[in-house]
Amino acid sequence: MRMWERWLMNDCIFCQIAAKKVPSKIQYEDDEIIAFDDIAPKAPVHILIVPKRHIESVNELKKEDIELIGKVILVAKKLAQEKGLKGYKLVFNVGREGGQLVDHLHLHLLGGMV
Ligand code: 5GP
Ligand code: ZN
Repeated sequence: MRMWERWLMNDCIFCQIAAKKVPSKIQYEDDEIIAFDDIAPKAPVHILIVPKRHIESVNELKKEDIELIGKVILVAKKLAQEKGLKGYKLVFNVGREGGQLVDHLHLHLLGGMV
């Protein structure tokens, strides 16, 4: 691991959650992805699906990440089915002006509003 990567990991709340240095209510995990309940839920079901590798946002995605981001969406679908959601929203906030506060790419799964 490069020095800047280590620095980012120490500084980034979602890297720390992925490394289990900060507790969270984990809903799904594999080698590449972790999903956990949002600490301040905006819907009855509000789960964040997060690649473990530190990618800042959708703006930093590369062609090599296509499979990973596809898996992130499929994890969201699987969790929605497990939670019995008939409909749901999937949201990537991108950049401050897009409402992104945590600079580690994450997909919001929001459901149970109706
Ligand atoms: P953003 O606005 O960046 O798209 O969303 C970040 C989300 O992360 C917010 O909904 C916020 O409630 C959630 N969040 C921020 N810090 C933590 C934390 O320490 N633990 C968990 N579980 N969620 C967090
Ligand atoms: Zn991170």
